[in-house]
Amino acid sequence: MKGILLGKNLEGLKEAAAECGLKPFVGKQLAEWLYVKRVSSFDAMTNISNASKAALSDKYDIGTAPSIGKAVSSDGTAKYLFPVVWGGEGSAVEAVVIPEEDRRTLCVSSQAGCKMGCRFCMTGRQGWHGNLSAADILNQFLGVDSPQTLTNAVFMGMGEPLDNYGAVSQALEVLTAPWGFAWSPKRITVSTIGVLPALKRYLDGQRCHLAVSLHNPFPEEREQMMPVQKAFDEREIISLIRQYDFSGQRRVSFEYTMFAGWNDSRRHADALIRMLRGLECRVNLIRFHKIPDFPYESSSQGVMEAFRDRLSNNGITCTIRASRGEDILAACGMLAGKHRQE
Ligand code: SF4
Repeated sequence: MKGILLGKNLEGLKEAAAECGLKPFVGKQLAEWLYVKRVSSFDAMTNISNASKAALSDKYDIGTAPSIGKAVSSDGTAKYLFPVVWGGEGSAVEAVVIPEEDRRTLCVSSQAGCKMGCRFCMTGRQGWHGNLSAADILNQFLGVDSPQTLTNAVFMGMGEPLDNYGAVSQALEVLTAPWGFAWSPKRITVSTIGVLPALKRYLDGQRCHLAVSLHNPFPEEREQMMPVQKAFDEREIISLIRQYDFSGQRRVSFEYTMFAGWNDSRRHADALIRMLRGLECRVNLIRFHKIPDFPYESSSQGVMEAFRDRLSNNGITCTIRASRGEDILAACGMLAGKHRQE
């Protein structure tokens, strides 16, 4: 089976060139073609000789694959379905492009399905079908329409990024390296439910932003919806985060999906305030998109605003996240779930 070039760092590309009997500078040329000019065929690499291209294509594929489905919302949000070619083969994952006034954000998937089993999540219900490779992750950045105009990325699509930290960190290196996409780490946010050992590695090794899915400040209640709480207690997650500095360029935010009658009371707001007191952070309140066979509904706008105001009045920056793409099954995992049923 051939190897894959997409996702390799500069050193890896030089090694691939050497393996094909080529000089190390070909590795540098490959980085330029893959990550700066972003071509998807060897033919397009005009400054590499035909003999060298033949040697490379003998052993390697580029690693790009076009999307196999697309739906566009009336608000401009576009959801793409990508085949998982180099990781959990045979599956499909979603990537969503969210256009806003001053930015165009890509929401990226990191796994086909997910092992974490959060009860409110369609992806969690599908179970886990495999880890994406760095090539599968980067392919989402390359395969959407007008990829050069993307300004930001959030790892908030299907899967738990820190349960596939090897491939995610490899993709982050390509995205932020000067020989790669050369994005500032400030443009990228990785979202996790708090896989502690990988979270520590992420905080030590990366400069991108962090988002943590909290959803409830009471451990025994959180555990009802998020089984991961048993393995990785939210109190330990917060105490780990408190050991790092978020007053500079790197930011931490907490995602809080609001369910009527489950986590939206004043008691919850006050416990959340106590939990996050003194931490430089932001809380994002998220409206819940109803999913089939799940008893809870989203909190009302009024309840969300009261919750936000209570946090804000107690010194915690808090916003209600705008809901996007509701008419195209924007809740994470719904399009890929539909694809699996077909
Ligand atoms: Fe996995 Fe995230 Fe869904 Fe939980 S919410 S099951 S971590 S994809």
